This record gives sequence, C-alpha cells and structure tokens, in this order.
Amino acid sequence: MTSPVLEFDLKAAIRTIPDYPKPGILFRDITTLLGDARAFRRAVDELVHPWAGQKIDKVAGIEARGFILGGAVAHQVSAGFIPIRKKGKLPHKRVSIAYSLEYGLDEMEIHEDAVVRGERVIVVDDLIATGGTAEGAVKLLRQMGAEVLAACFIVDLPDLGGADKIRKLDVPVRTLISFEGH
Ligand code: AMP
Repeated sequence: MTSPVLEFDLKAAIRTIPDYPKPGILFRDITTLLGDARAFRRAVDELVHPWAGQKIDKVAGIEARGFILGGAVAHQVSAGFIPIRKKGKLPHKRVSIAYSLEYGLDEMEIHEDAVVRGERVIVVDDLIATGGTAEGAVKLLRQMGAEVLAACFIVDLPDLGGADKIRKLDVPVRTLISFEGH
C-alpha cells in the first residue's frame, strides 16, 4: 500500500490521453511523470520498497517504458538490468515466449545468458492491464531458472484483472496507483 499523498502526487503527474491508440482507450502517459524529477524519484523509490534490503540480483524491464523505470530501479538497488524485448530486437542468442495481447498474440525475447539459474529477479513495467505481457515475462524468466521475487508497476488497471493473474502465478505484485476502467 502506498500513502494517499503519494498516490495523489503520482496520479497528478500522469497524463491521460483519451482515444489513444484507438477509440475507447484511456492511455496513461507516464512521460509527464518521468519529466517531473520529484515524481520520478518517488516512483522509483517506492516501486521495490518492500524488497529493499533483500538480495536482488537483476531487474527485468519490459520494452519500452519498463526499460526507463527498470534501469533506474536496478541502479537504486545495485542490481543488474535485463531487457525483455519485442521479437527481433536482441542481437545475441535468445529465448522467446508467445504472450497474449488484447487481440491476438505476440512474442517477447530475452538473451539466453541474461539470467543465471537461481538468480533473484524483479520484473518492472509502467502499467499492468490484462497482465498478458507481465505473465509472458514471468514465464520466460522462470523458464530460464530465475526466481521471480515480484512484479512492480506504477499503474494498475484493476478492472482488467492483470495483477490478480500474476498473483495466481505466486508472484507478489506491487502497484502504486490505480485507475478505474481501461
Ligand atoms: P497488458 O499486457 O494488457 O497488461 O498490457 C500492459 C502493457 O501495455 C504495458 O507495457 C503498458 O505499457 C501497455 N498498456 C496497456 N494499456 C495501457 C493504457 N491504458 N495506457 C498506457 N499503456 C498501456
């Protein structure tokens, strides 16, 4: 749980763009939060707060906004950073997994040597909606022998059930703020 003041401040720092990328979607644009030094720092500090002081080997960020947040979090907790990328972007040998989008399937990839079996990894992205993307990331990391400590997001869209989907995989989920609807 985050404090009401923090929640208010973070919500105020996020811009909502109606009907983007398609009609009916309220796009939660975190670039305004990233551009606000105080909000950015608070968000990064709070994202992995419950695991501060524990051993975290790696932070895995999901392309693309998860790279910005995950990189900052990794620096903060003195962990390595792993990019989880869309298909075809990583140059070395890869492991891939299909994951569900709102309509259809896509694939995400990780370098095959990005994780050593048994490493303790936290997944970071900006927002969890249906949870399909995060589920793919968790499964990919587990397939490689990682111990997934948690999945952390600034924004939860609870009506879409994604956080519950990840908790059902026995992965603790941390979200800082939530918006109704989708
Ligand atoms: P999902 O797989 O449905 O949980 O979708 C999560 C991914 O899609 C994240 O990487 C988000 O950045 C992006 N996303 C989904 N819905 C939104 C939204 N309403 N506003 C901004 N980003 C979104």
